[in-house]
Amino acid sequence: MTMKEQPFWQQKGDLFYRLGLFYRQEFGGPVRKICVDAGLPCPNVSPNGQGGCIFCNTVSFSQIRRNSLQKDVLQPIPRQVSEQIRHGKRHSPQTKYLVYFQPSTNTNAPVERLRRLYEEAISHPDVVGLIIGTRPDAVPDTVLDLLSDLAEKTWLMLEIGLQSVHNDTLRWLNRGHDYQTFLAAAERISLRNIRFGVHLILGLPGEDQAERIETAVRIAGLPIHSVKLHHLYICENTKIAEYYRSGCVELPSFADYCRYVVDFLERQPPMRVIDRIVSDTSDETLIAPDWMKNRAISKNRVIDAVTAEFRRRDSYQGKLFQREKE
Ligand code: SF4
Repeated sequence: MTMKEQPFWQQKGDLFYRLGLFYRQEFGGPVRKICVDAGLPCPNVSPNGQGGCIFCNTVSFSQIRRNSLQKDVLQPIPRQVSEQIRHGKRHSPQTKYLVYFQPSTNTNAPVERLRRLYEEAISHPDVVGLIIGTRPDAVPDTVLDLLSDLAEKTWLMLEIGLQSVHNDTLRWLNRGHDYQTFLAAAERISLRNIRFGVHLILGLPGEDQAERIETAVRIAGLPIHSVKLHHLYICENTKIAEYYRSGCVELPSFADYCRYVVDFLERQPPMRVIDRIVSDTSDETLIAPDWMKNRAISKNRVIDAVTAEFRRRDSYQGKLFQREKE
């Protein structure tokens, strides 16, 4: 590939298209996500649900939910937004903010309530957009129509938790939806031109190399804006913690996980934004893997190891995506 044919992120010396670079391009200045908790329930947990995903402990992956539990009260959205921005402004007055409705299922409420929550979030003058995390079975057309309206007023991104494209794995994880539900949702979202990203877990028990590659190839072929990759981790107060302690769950080693990330990224389109390549968990609730026990150090270790693996293969994001197209 000549310099001229390389995507701009590669010309800058990167080996995959990082979220930070995308934000700088998109917004022309510093932008940061702030997480808010609307306290909405997850349909996989609430009374009609199936008991929740086996790995789920929303406290473990959400600082904002930990904060609300400590204060024993959920602050209104405008207050959550303004407090975080006030704090952020002390360090970086120029920064703008994306409000991320993060924990649980943030489209699981009547449309008028959702409209109020989202509009409250974007009413702060330093907020330039919204990110909304949800599940593929919780995006009815009425909600998508609302998001489509909002996308006319602000930068908007929907994040869909998928985790695996393999139905056996989804059943084992107790996700409460299958891959076909995701595909149907993806089609309805795309029809409305709503930007959306997907969350996946790499290295799930029971998935072999062929299945991991199949995941990468299927995801590569979908009209997705960005991908968030996670490693599987075990937290206290989860079903998977019981399985792990009884020896039924094996986690990939650090080196294997980093190889899976590279296998995946090599097969993605060059202009797909890579939101993250490793999970972010609370150190207090984490049981395994050991290599994630100091998350600040571990995240950088993963980035360094993934970079080294790309260099060892003389590879980069999209290298095999282009080959498979030829
Ligand atoms: S969909 Fe999300 S919030 Fe709901 S049980 Fe699964 S991980 Fe937890």
